[in-house]
Amino acid sequence: MNMIRVAINGFGTIGKRVADAISLQNDMAVSGVVKTRPTFEARLARERGYRLYANTKENVAAFETAGIPVTGTLEDLISESDIVVDCTPGKTGAVNKEQIYVPKNIKAIFQGGEKPNVAEVSFNAMSNYDASIGKSYVRVVSCNTTGLCRTLGAVKKEIGITQVRATMIRRGADSGDSKRGPINAIAPNPPTVPSHHGIDVNTIFPKMNILTSAFIVPTTLMHMHAINVMLEKQATKDEVIALLEKTPRVLLVSAKEGIVSTAQVMEYARELGRSRSDMFEIAVWKESINVVNGNELFYVQAIHQESDVVPENIDAIRAMTGIEKDAKESMRKTDESMRLKIWW
Ligand code: NAD
Repeated sequence: MNMIRVAINGFGTIGKRVADAISLQNDMAVSGVVKTRPTFEARLARERGYRLYANTKENVAAFETAGIPVTGTLEDLISESDIVVDCTPGKTGAVNKEQIYVPKNIKAIFQGGEKPNVAEVSFNAMSNYDASIGKSYVRVVSCNTTGLCRTLGAVKKEIGITQVRATMIRRGADSGDSKRGPINAIAPNPPTVPSHHGIDVNTIFPKMNILTSAFIVPTTLMHMHAINVMLEKQATKDEVIALLEKTPRVLLVSAKEGIVSTAQVMEYARELGRSRSDMFEIAVWKESINVVNGNELFYVQAIHQESDVVPENIDAIRAMTGIEKDAKESMRKTDESMRLKIWW
């Protein structure tokens, strides 16, 4: 089989993880990665064997001067690729689409920092893989939306949902970021209620009655969600536990076993020995799952914002290029190669 050639535009938190995940697949390969400046990440990209490209002709000289030569520019890379995964900072993808991807007629995947209308469809592998088959522009929803869609999607499919109310407690910055905060405050963010997170879930489940609010807190490790769901059918707590136990890309964790906060979730991820200690699964606290009055479900989940969207990008590549038309089979290939929880 011909390998799908994937360009990575933007080699930061998400881009470097997507590149490494692609390298683990046997039906796609990284054709090159794009940086704007000759940073340590650009040097590492070359050391890891990725072909490095500058985003513009004007920026090539800076790489040469820094002793980190590039193979060419983004335009060159696109001519040697079948699809591009845009992992540039939020809103840059939309500019890239108009200025580069549309004129060069290349398929592109965007990330959650872009507005939904950047793409023909928003993507979550478990929920709407088929809608992206053969599409040219697809947006993988944000880390928070991915987490909500995985667990709510499972509950919706098996039990049914009439209403969701959820509070997002968001990390202030990623671990490698020293510019953001807050460092000593809790900020309603956005200050308006509802927040955009529920609205984003509606790009995957258009009819879901969901409202969210969000806060930012001084931590870098993970986001946390407190979720309340009104169920369509009566269910027991044990039925919900059994359902989430078998749900792909969702991992039940337990306070009884000492996982009492995001600190231990990330310690657990470190022990799993994956690259960068990533936790691709959504961690749901077993003890938090409760059903009151037969139809009101509560649970708490943690999201490793730097990595949960990475397997979704791999599946989006398969759907858009049509190399795998079966969602479950794509997810199995992705999860087996990346050593996620076994559910197949
Ligand atoms: P990042 O800042 O870590 O990485 C972005 C990279 O793109 C950097 O290396 C930057 O130098 C580079 N870049 C900037 N302008 C560029 C340009 N014009 N051309 C090429 N490269 C350029 O950002 P990130 O956290 O990886 O976020 C990327 C996207 O993923 C955003 O849409 C974001 O909202 C989304 N996302 C981020 C997270 C997260 O928590 N970090 C989670 C899910 C989705």
